[in-house]
Amino acid sequence: MPLIVQKYGGTSVGDPDRIRAVAERVAETARAGNQVAVIVSAMSGETNALVALSKELGGEQPTPREYDVLVSTGEQKTIALLSMALHQIGVPARSFTGGQLGMLTTSAHSRARILEIDTARIRATLDAGAVAVVAGFQGVDAEGNITTLGRGGSDTSAVAVACALQADVCEIYTDVDGVYTTDPNMVSGARKLEKISYEEMLEMASLGAKVLQIRSVKFGMQYGVPIHVRSSFAPDEGTWVLPEEDVMERLVVSGVTCNKGEAKIRVRSVKDAPGVAAGLFGPLSEAGIVVDMIIQNLSQDGTTDMTFTVPRDDCRRALEITESVAPALGAAEVIGDEDVAKVSVVGLGMKDHAGVAARMFQVLAAEGINIQLISTSEIKISVVVQEKYAELAVRALHASLVEEGTLETAEA
Ligand code: ADP
Ligand code: ASP
Ligand code: MG
Repeated sequence: MPLIVQKYGGTSVGDPDRIRAVAERVAETARAGNQVAVIVSAMSGETNALVALSKELGGEQPTPREYDVLVSTGEQKTIALLSMALHQIGVPARSFTGGQLGMLTTSAHSRARILEIDTARIRATLDAGAVAVVAGFQGVDAEGNITTLGRGGSDTSAVAVACALQADVCEIYTDVDGVYTTDPNMVSGARKLEKISYEEMLEMASLGAKVLQIRSVKFGMQYGVPIHVRSSFAPDEGTWVLPEEDVMERLVVSGVTCNKGEAKIRVRSVKDAPGVAAGLFGPLSEAGIVVDMIIQNLSQDGTTDMTFTVPRDDCRRALEITESVAPALGAAEVIGDEDVAKVSVVGLGMKDHAGVAARMFQVLAAEGINIQLISTSEIKISVVVQEKYAELAVRALHASLVEEGTLETAEA
C-alpha cells in the first residue's frame, strides 16, 4: 500500500473551517488506498503569539529549555483538533507529540537537529488502518527535554518522518501553489516551477525562500524522498523537488531570493599576518555563531580590512566577541551594520553559462543600487545591499534574468 506523508502549514490549519478542510483532504487520500501520516504546524500566528507572550513577561531572557516548552505548545493544539475533525468524519486517527513518538534530537534548544525517529508507533497506527497525526517543529533530547527545530521546522519534521518511513512522497501543503522563481507575494511576475532540483532548492531555502526549511530539503536529498510543494486550497499539481537528473528544464536562473535576516560586521585595519583570521573566526565559531560571507581586502601598509556577515539575531553577540578579540588582532575599529539584506540568484545552468554575474551587476547598477559584498558558488551569486533596496533589487533581477530571459537569449 502506498505511504504518503502530508504536512500542513500554519495558514492551512488557521481556523476550524480550514482544519475541517484538511481533514477532508486527508480522508480522501486515505480512502484512495494510501496509508497517511500527517505532520502539522501551529495555527497561523500561534507561534509568534507564544514568542510574544514570553517577552511580555519581561525580565531576563527565558531559559532555552522553558522557551521550547512554551513555543512547542502550538503544534499540540493542532494535532488534537485535526484528529478530532478526522473522527467526526469517520476516519480513525491518533495524535502524537514529538516526545510520544520518539523524535530524538540534539539538546540545542530552538535549533535542535533530528538524530533519530522511532517509527514503531506510527507504523502500528498506520497498520491498524488509522491516520497518524504528528506535531511538527518539536522533538525530545536524550534526557527527555522538549526541543524545537527552528522557525519553519515543521517542514523538516515532515520530510524526516517521510524518510524514516521510506514514504513514496512527502507533500508540503502551504498557502502558495508551489515553488516560484521568486516570492510570489513580493513579485507579481513570479512563475511557478513544475520541477526543481534538490540542489537548487537547497540554495533557495538557505538564501531566504522560506517555502521550505533548508534541513527538510537536505533530508529529502539524502534519502531520495521526493517533495511535492502544493496548495492546501486547490487540487492542482504543485512543484516537485527531485534529483537533478529528473529535472529536464535547466534554467540559467531558476530563482531570485532575498534574506533580510543578516547583519554585517567590519573589522578595520587588522594586521595582515598569519593567524589573524583564526583569531577572529575561531571564537565566533566556538560561540556557535554561523558566519556566512567573508571578505578580506587587499593589504595596505601591512594592515587589511575584514568584513563578514552573521544572522541578525546573533549580531550583538558577534559584535561583543569581535570587540573582545580586536585588540589582540591590532584592529583599529569594529563596526556593526544591521541595515543590510542579501539578494541572490540561483540556477543550475550557471554551471556552464558565463556572464550571469556581469549581467546581475549591470541590472543593479542601472537601478542605482550599490553592492557592498559579493559571494559566489557554482550555482548561485549573492550580493549584500542596503536593506531598503532589497525588494527593488529582487524585482529588477527577476524582470531581467527570469521574465525577459536575457541570459537564455544571449546564449542562443
Ligand atoms: P507554511 O506556514 O505553510 O509553512 P510559509 O509561510 O512558511 O508557509 O511558506 C510559504 C511562503 O513562502 C509563501 O507564502 C511565500 O510568501 C514564501 N516564499 C518565499 N519565496 C518563495 C518562492 N520562491 N516560492 C514560493 N513561496 C515563496
Ligand atoms: N510553528 C512553527 C513556526 O512558526 C513551525 C512551522 O510552522 O513550521 O516556526
Ligand atoms: Mg513554513
